[in-house]
Amino acid sequence: MSNDIKDFAIATLGSHTALQILKGAKEEGIKAIAICTKETRRPYDSFDVADEIIEIDSFENFFEIEKILMEKNAIVIPHGSFVSYLGPQKINDNLKAMHYGSKGILIWESDRSMERVWLQDAGLNLPRIYQTPEEIDGPVIIKFHGAKGGFGYFIAHSPAEFHERIKSFKDPDDYVIQEYIVGVPMYVHYFQSALTGELEIMSFDKRYESNADSIGRIAAKDQLDAGIQTSYTITGNIPIVVRESMLPMFFKIGEDVVAASKKLEGAPKGLYGPFCLEGIIDPNLNFRVFEISARIVAGTNPYTNGSPYTWLKYNEPMSTGRRVAREIKTAIQSGRLQDILG
Ligand code: ATP
Repeated sequence: MSNDIKDFAIATLGSHTALQILKGAKEEGIKAIAICTKETRRPYDSFDVADEIIEIDSFENFFEIEKILMEKNAIVIPHGSFVSYLGPQKINDNLKAMHYGSKGILIWESDRSMERVWLQDAGLNLPRIYQTPEEIDGPVIIKFHGAKGGFGYFIAHSPAEFHERIKSFKDPDDYVIQEYIVGVPMYVHYFQSALTGELEIMSFDKRYESNADSIGRIAAKDQLDAGIQTSYTITGNIPIVVRESMLPMFFKIGEDVVAASKKLEGAPKGLYGPFCLEGIIDPNLNFRVFEISARIVAGTNPYTNGSPYTWLKYNEPMSTGRRVAREIKTAIQSGRLQDILG
C-alpha cells in the first residue's frame, strides 16, 4: 500500500459534521469527497470544502457509489447521519470501502442495553433504570426508542402519574424508565488515537433544543395553561468551557471507557477516533452519563477553527474533523493504515 497521501481521499455524506471533516482533509493535504443529494449539496458548494462532490438520489443509495469510492482509495468517515441512514449492521456487514474507526463499536453504541453494559463495566455513574413503573420513587424520564428529537419523552414522579401519562401513547412497549437527573447537560468530545494510544479532550458543548430550551421564557402558569409537551429537537450546539478542576475527571472517564471497549465482542481494536460522552452534571459535580456516541458528534461543529483545548495542545486550528484527517495522514505516511481502519 502507498505511503503517499496523494493516492488517497477522505469521503463522507454531505450532512452532520461533513463541513469540518472535508475542510480538515483539505487542510491536511488529502483529497476531500462529499457525497450529496441534489437537495443537500448547496452548503458544500458554497463553503468550498470539497475537492469533489458525488451526487446520489438519496443517502440510502450510498452503496450504489461505493465502487467509485473504492477506485479512488477513499477512506469513509462515519458521522451521525451516515450511521443513521445506512444503519450500523449494514455498515458492519456490507461496507467494503475503507472505513475509519471500529465498525463493531457502532453496533454496541446503537443499542441502549448493550451500551449500558459497556458503560457500567467502565465504572461510569449512570442514571438508574427502573424495571417496572411501580418502582418509581422520584423524578423519572420516560424515553421511547427511536423517538427522534426525544419527541414524546415525558417526566413522571410516581407510578400513578406514569400510568396516567402513558395512556396517550399508542404503542407504549418500547420505552425505558430512567432516573431524571436535575443538573446541567454536558457533552464531552474526545479523540482516542489508535496510533499513539493517547486520549485527547477536544471540546465540550450543550445542545439547543426546541422546545425544551424555550419553555423557561414563559411563566409556569402560562406553560400549564398552554398544555405544552416538552420536546428535545436539536436545532444547534452551544460551546462550553468547563470548570478546570473537572478536567481530571473527564480524562479519567474517557480513558476508562476506552479501556472497557477493548473487551467488547466484535470490536477487536476497541474504541478509537472521535467519540462523545453525554450526560448531566448534578449540583454535587457528579457527571451522570446517559449515552455514548462512538463517532464524531455535531457538538464539535462550533469548533471548525479549533476549541480552547485544541488550541492549548496544537497551537494551530484543529477541528475534530482535521484531527481525524491528521491521524489518517500519519497512518498512511508511517505505513500503519490498517491500524486505523475497522
Ligand atoms: P440522541 O440523538 O443523542 O440519541 P435523543 O434525541 O434520543 O438523543 P436523549 O439523548 O435521550 O435524546 O436526550 C434528550 C434530552 O433529554 C436531552 O436534552 C438530555 O439532556 C435529556 N436527558 C436525557 N436523559 C436524561 C436524564 N436521565 N436526566 C435528565 N435529562 C436527561
